[in-house]
Amino acid sequence: MLGGKNKVLRRYLSNNNRFKSDNPDYGRAFLLNAALAYMSVICMIFGILHIIKTDHPIFIYFYFAVMILSIVVIIFFHKTDNVKLTSLFAVILATFIMGSILHLVYSDYSGLFWAAAYLPFVYLMLEGKKGVRATLILGVSGLLYIIFFHRDWQPGIFNYMSIINIAGAGACLMLLIVYYERSQKRAEKSLVAKNNQLHLMSITDRLTGLYNRHKLDETLNELVCKSKTCKKPFSIIIADIDRFKSINDTYGHLTGDKVLVEISNLLLACVRQTDIAGRWGGEEFLIICPDTDYAGITDIAKRIEAFISGYNFGCCQGVALSCGVATHNSGETVDSLLQRADTNMYQTKQSRRNT
Ligand code: GH3
Ligand code: MG
Ligand code: MG
Repeated sequence: MLGGKNKVLRRYLSNNNRFKSDNPDYGRAFLLNAALAYMSVICMIFGILHIIKTDHPIFIYFYFAVMILSIVVIIFFHKTDNVKLTSLFAVILATFIMGSILHLVYSDYSGLFWAAAYLPFVYLMLEGKKGVRATLILGVSGLLYIIFFHRDWQPGIFNYMSIINIAGAGACLMLLIVYYERSQKRAEKSLVAKNNQLHLMSITDRLTGLYNRHKLDETLNELVCKSKTCKKPFSIIIADIDRFKSINDTYGHLTGDKVLVEISNLLLACVRQTDIAGRWGGEEFLIICPDTDYAGITDIAKRIEAFISGYNFGCCQGVALSCGVATHNSGETVDSLLQRADTNMYQTKQSRRNT
């Protein structure tokens, strides 16, 4: 939200970075600090103007009192990080200011402009049903007070104070709109990020980080559908770790897991970016290679087998992978394609055992 130059401002607004962007109260903390600072500055300006230009000491006391109270609430917030209580204090303070404005309007009625910023502020601070109820009650009470208390309206004056009131209230309203728009955008962004994260989790195998069976099934079905219009065939490899049970038994389950993770990384290193490598289950992997014919897939499978056999796993010896391949025939179902690759894999495994 704020760049490097505004580090001090950012630290103030986020209570010395204790409210981070993933905190649900992040936006409200910003708004609270901004609003309280705004209140104290505006009250200071009004207090000074009254010292210079008017001779109503009550206004001078009032503005300086509110300024001091705002600063006290800021200090309270920075000491406690209590958003709920500080929001309540801020609303009480704003209500005190608004009430005093309603009570003290004599001939310069422009102070009433603050109502336009006050009510949305109350709503944003208290949030939800509480916010709606408070806004309605305070809005209607203020209106009734104005109607019944000020029966004798005199022609108003318009001076520099009126301009400051209108500009101040307008700026405040604008800030509230910007805050609201930003918090909507932030909520949208975090929803999209959460959705993406959930989607990734739904298609990823937890241990290896490869695609899971759900994603592999989906991809196979998509490619079979596409094959009706696409001329180039796709091919698959089913890869099964040889004697993985004995790796677990000899070196332990955790080492077995490490081998699974390492093989997954090696598989990713062996295939193209357009290929889809996933964990089919247990110690079996499936690699889907679009635009690949039988000669191509046989080549890739051999390369993978040789790469794994020649790799030094460190934690255990003699890790090997048996690959079975199949190229999709026009009109063939996913099950039939998988069955052919599986049979081919067992043939490979068997022939290795026999040699
Ligand atoms: P073959 O050469 O015939 O493939 O024998 P194999 O031992 O590899 O196959 P088998 O089906 O007999 O055993 C597979 C083993 O894989 C059994 C199971 O405990 C182990 N396994 C499955 N999933 C995991 C896992 O996530 N982590 C670990 N460490 N082991 C697993
Ligand atoms: Mg197996
Ligand atoms: Mg196996």
